Amino acid sequence: MILKIVKYPDPILSRPGEPITEFNDELRKLIADMFETMYAEQGIGLAAPQVGASIRLMVIDLSVGKAPKDKLVLINPEIIFTDGKLYEEEGCLSFPEIREKVARHAKVRIRAQDEKGKWFEMDGVDVLSRCFQHEIDHVDGMLFIFRMSALKRDLNLRKIRKMQREGKW
Ligand SMILES: [Zn+2]
Repeated sequence: MILKIVKYPDPILSRPGEPITEFNDELRKLIADMFETMYAEQGIGLAAPQVGASIRLMVIDLSVGKAPKDKLVLINPEIIFTDGKLYEEEGCLSFPEIREKVARHAKVRIRAQDEKGKWFEMDGVDVLSRCFQHEIDHVDGMLFIFRMSALKRDLNLRKIRKMQREGKW
């Protein structure tokens, strides 16, 4: 089922998600729906708060559905190691049409649980590193617009307000 994507400034996007303790069918259904929703929007990452669920869950697929081995489910994720710097353009499904360069770590190691509750660690470099950081920010209630420079943030907030006035947001 394709879910509705919550857009900024919905308050759920700024609220830290609750830790997940039950790895049940309801959770697996939500994960399947999140992949379906992400693919429908041609996205590479989606966090649960973006579909209205304030919990610490995110899905990633850099292949956008083309390579099953690229499908990643991260539950209760945390970053345990960072290295280097990246400054690349990012977008966000909760901010349609907004793309901006954001400072990130070039490499991160994450620790998370899979959909059965098993803990694992994984390294991400470049795009995957950026995606890990962007989506973990979401489950922490942090949005990429607040990682931009003050100048870029103000420009984009003005652009959003203009789109809202014109009924395009
Ligand atoms: Zn996002």
